[in-house]
Parts: sequence; structure tokens; C-alpha cells
Amino acid sequence: MIELLFLLLPVAMAYGWFMGRNSIKQNQQTAKQDLSIKYSTGLNYLLSNQQDKAIDSLLDALKVEDDSVEAHFAMANLFRKRGELDRALKVHEHLVRLNHLPTKDKQQAVFELGKDFLSAGLYDRAETMFTKLLKSKDYGLKSLTYLLKIFQSTKDWQQGIDRQKLIVKYNDKRSLHTLANFYCELATTAFEKDEFIEVIELLEQALILDPNSCRANWLMAKIYENHQQCELAAKCYQAIYHQDNEFFPDVIEPMLGCYTRLDELDEFYAFIKKVYDETASSSALICYLSHVEKKHSKKKALEFILSALKRRPTIRGFEHFVNMQINQVQVDDGSLDLIKELIGEYLKIKHRYSCRSCGFNSQIHYWSCPSCHEWEQLKPIRGLEGE
Ligand SMILES: [Zn+2]
Repeated sequence: MIELLFLLLPVAMAYGWFMGRNSIKQNQQTAKQDLSIKYSTGLNYLLSNQQDKAIDSLLDALKVEDDSVEAHFAMANLFRKRGELDRALKVHEHLVRLNHLPTKDKQQAVFELGKDFLSAGLYDRAETMFTKLLKSKDYGLKSLTYLLKIFQSTKDWQQGIDRQKLIVKYNDKRSLHTLANFYCELATTAFEKDEFIEVIELLEQALILDPNSCRANWLMAKIYENHQQCELAAKCYQAIYHQDNEFFPDVIEPMLGCYTRLDELDEFYAFIKKVYDETASSSALICYLSHVEKKHSKKKALEFILSALKRRPTIRGFEHFVNMQINQVQVDDGSLDLIKELIGEYLKIKHRYSCRSCGFNSQIHYWSCPSCHEWEQLKPIRGLEGE
């Protein structure tokens, strides 16, 4: 009898293994069914426009299955885009609280939460979130960019400067350009108080961070001029042309003043002629014409502008041509004055500057675009109605 029992032992083991396997399968199936029910419930709530209940149901489902994390990020981002920030926050906060999420997902949740706070105008909370991620390989630079945006919005230039070491370490051109403008902002304040040495030091820092900062050279030229150091100012004005010739038309007038004081007008007009030859800018043309008129004759200046307008017609160039004609013509029936007035009125309603980044147009110059907040992107408009 005992031998018979021993013979049945392998059968019992096989039966036990088979039943155990079935039980695991059954548990997995039950979990999947449970998940499926929670998702269906969530979707039903969504379809019946009960979004808060839908979020609760879908967040509940997340406790069961990590594979749905991406779907939750997508859902929360959609809420944020629709301006439903409280819902986006709820999802992201839930994701941050989940202990079992992989580090990368958790960092993404913190990053997105920072963006939610930023959209809601809660700068201090957004700053806390982004600061947490500064050492992250995936989100460090992105978070730094957002932090700089926050400091720009709150005009907290020093906070940005305090992050200089990290910005230099990342060596990201855009962040370096932003930081250079933070220095320019501090330099502008010091300029208003006429603190010569401080302005120069701040602008030198800006130029180290971004050697192409026209703004830094412009302000430096101004402070040098104010302190009767016109030779240094002239060098700064020339540097602006080499940094970004699109900025140059606005520099021509103060540069003329600087060279007049230096009594080096021949050198100035030689430079302006070079600028005109290279860029065909209307401002450079108009400025150079006054030199041709004084140095040679009105006739020569008229010949010059006519050939220039044939080469590249612009409204501003034409307006100047009409002005020259008015002075030239002996008997005028008033028609030239009428044309001049018409062009003047037309140019008055045209914008002088456009943002190269977002296309925002303005009559006034801003160093930071009021629309996209990019730095040094508002430049004189080019083409028929501009430069
Ligand atoms: Zn813009």
C-alpha cells in the first residue's frame, strides 16, 4: 500500500504544478481585467464629459500598470494645452508621488509639473521644480532654460548671473546669449547712474559670454562717448557692424556724432560707403549722399541716388530723392510737395522693426521681443518699405 502511495507522488506533484500555474494565470488575467475595467470606466467618463471622474479612474489604473505612463503624460499635456491647468497639475503631481516609477519618468513628471506651474504664473513653485532637475542628464539644460525664462519675467537678473558657472559648463549658445543680456540689463541700470567702471565691467562680462552681443557694444559706445572717449566709442560702433550688420542702420546717427567730435569725418564716410556697398542699406545711402553733396555737388549726389534706386528701389530712398528734387527744382507747382507728404504719411504707418524670431512688428525698438521674449531679435525691417 505504501509503495502505491510512493508511485502516486509524481502524479500529485505534477497536479500541484499544473494547478499553481493556472492560479498565476488566473491572477494575471484578473489584474488585466481589473485594469481594462478601470480604463473603460475612465474613457466612459471622458466621453460623457465628466473629466474629473475620468482622471481619478485613469490615475487609479496607473497604480496597476506602468506601461500607461506615457499615455498619462500625453493626457496631462493635452489638459495644459487646453488651459485646464488644475487637471494637468493633478496628473503630474500624481506621477511625481508614484514611488515605483523609473527615475527618468519621475524627472519628466517634475519637469512637466514645473511647466504647469509656469503656465499658471506660479513662478516660485516652477523655480523649485526646475532647480531640482539642474543636475539631471536629460532635463538639466532644459530646466536651466526655463529658469532663465522665469528670471527674465521677474527681472531677477542677479539670479540668472548666480547660475553662470552652470550655464558656462553647458556651453549652450542660447543660454549664454540670454545671460549676456542679463549683464546688459544691470549695465543699463548702472549707466543711468553714470557708474562708468561698473558699466564697463558688466559689459565686458557680457561680451565674454556672447562676443556677438551688439547691445553690449552699443551701451559701451554710449558710456565712452559720455566720458569723452570717442576713439573707443568709434571702435564699438564699428564692431556692431561686424557683429550683426542688420543692427547697423540705427547706429549710423550716433556714430556720425562721435566721428564729428573726433574730426575724422572722411574716415567715417569711407566706412559708411563700405557699409552701403556691402548691404545696400537705405540709411547708409542717405547718410553717404550728404557727404557726396558736400564734397562734390548736388548734381553728383542726384546721379548717385538715381543709380542706387535703379539698383535697389526703396520707399525711404525714393522719399530722399523727392526731397533732393524739391531743393533742386527752381519752379515747383506743388506736386513734389504733395508726393513728399504722401510718402511721409505712408512711412508713418509702417513699422520700423520686426522680430527675426517670431515676426512681431513694432515702431519702437525693444531688446527683448514683447511677443516671443527672445533677446536682440528686433531689427530694422529690410526690403522695399524698410532698409
Ligand atoms: Zn519675437
